Amino acid sequence: MVEIKLHNTKTRKKEVFTPIDASNVRMYVCGPTVYDRAHLGNARPVVVFDVLNRLLRHVYGEDHVTYVRNFTDVDDKIIARAEQSGREIGQITSETTQWFLEDMAALGAREPDHMPRATQYIPQMVLMIEELIAGGHAYAAEGHVLFAVESYEKYGALSGRTVKDMIAGSRVEVAPYKRNPMDFVLWKPSSGDQPGWDSPWGYGRPGWHIECSAMSYELLGESFDIHGGGNDLMFPHHENEIAQSCCAHPQGDFARYWLHNEMLQVEGRKMSKSLGNFFTVRDLLDQGVPGEVIRFVFLSTHYRKPMDWTEKKAKEAEATLLSWKKTIDVWRFEVGKKSSGKNPPRTIVDAVSDDLNTALAISEMHALAKKAKNSIEAAIELAEAMVFLGFNPSTDVLEEHDLAFLKGMLQNIRENAMETKDFSEVDRMKTVLVAAGVKVKMSKSDIVLELTPDFDPSKLESLK
Ligand code: AMP
Ligand code: ZN
Repeated sequence: MVEIKLHNTKTRKKEVFTPIDASNVRMYVCGPTVYDRAHLGNARPVVVFDVLNRLLRHVYGEDHVTYVRNFTDVDDKIIARAEQSGREIGQITSETTQWFLEDMAALGAREPDHMPRATQYIPQMVLMIEELIAGGHAYAAEGHVLFAVESYEKYGALSGRTVKDMIAGSRVEVAPYKRNPMDFVLWKPSSGDQPGWDSPWGYGRPGWHIECSAMSYELLGESFDIHGGGNDLMFPHHENEIAQSCCAHPQGDFARYWLHNEMLQVEGRKMSKSLGNFFTVRDLLDQGVPGEVIRFVFLSTHYRKPMDWTEKKAKEAEATLLSWKKTIDVWRFEVGKKSSGKNPPRTIVDAVSDDLNTALAISEMHALAKKAKNSIEAAIELAEAMVFLGFNPSTDVLEEHDLAFLKGMLQNIRENAMETKDFSEVDRMKTVLVAAGVKVKMSKSDIVLELTPDFDPSKLESLK
């Protein structure tokens, strides 16, 4: 049996992972608030926990893991977006949810087993809030319900703070109805046009934190194995989830292992709209960066280290993936016959089992790729390792992506040229394509591109 070790934020140690029930290993990961396209940072936890999901399924069996990731579809940011755009909330959330699923699928992330939406679990949240009030952990005041942080002795333990420190360091607005400035909202009133539900405390909507406590309880029970998310969520979100769940269900442990990924930066700086380095996953895909390349760059850095997205890394990743795929392609027949996609080499599984050391797994794969030039066995192992980490060993995926992108580009250039009657750009692009090993057939109605065996994407640089 493979031994998995995970760094547990709760104990600040790397621990051997022992599931509560090996026939049903349970993991909950906080998902996105759906009002806009996912930015590149949002994709990091998705890819990190996708790798953990794949590892757990490899070790415990495909049908012995339950992975839940929520969609926050009621939130003040969503309400604000609806007001600005004049669109319906439901339209915005369903469109954004669909975008999220498409963009994450492009990164090779498998869908979780359950993807609950907050608005589908309002009665369960109301029930949990009632239990908290009955247990003396929450109180109603002016249409709000607040969690009383002083009623939970361990409040702050996950992130290592005390309520006193928090008050000293916080900039929270002290509402008159709060008994303690750190008390947080479980329920709040909604005015006429805001989304709302009837409740024992009047017409209103839930605070953010309660949804994860209610949905994880409903789908995974009062004790489950792993809880994940970005480290920006550790406080207050995860601290509040723990307080709510442990007070509502004191006989359970809530989550036993807490995993947090570090943040993503861009070219060494925090990604932010004001620095002009903010972009979405879709922006990158539309610029011709294949999803697999984004995944590869992510996995090259350990999840507990800040990850720096750079264009240079993306180019190197594309070259590496293509060279691995071409190496495997030489042995296509044997690899097709002998690899099942379910038999990753032990060195790779061991690397990933050691607190998701994907960077080590990738360096092992570089070594395999070198051997695979002269060894069928190594080529099979490399293909198996790629499937295990969520990559497609065949060259088709990258090539299809490149072809679709190049065709779109050539079409645009040709349309412009038809208007200006200047075809020099079309000719220039055709020359570059042919030199890079792409056959170009243009008719009045269509453009057909085909890759020849001499295809060399590095020769397309001048186009991108
Ligand atoms: P949000 O929609 O802001 O609640 O974020 C969804 C997920 O993305 C959470 O798990 C966050 O921790 C994560 N996240 C947000 N920004 C970043 C970032 N720059 N790097 C890595 N993860 C992030
Ligand atoms: Zn959550």
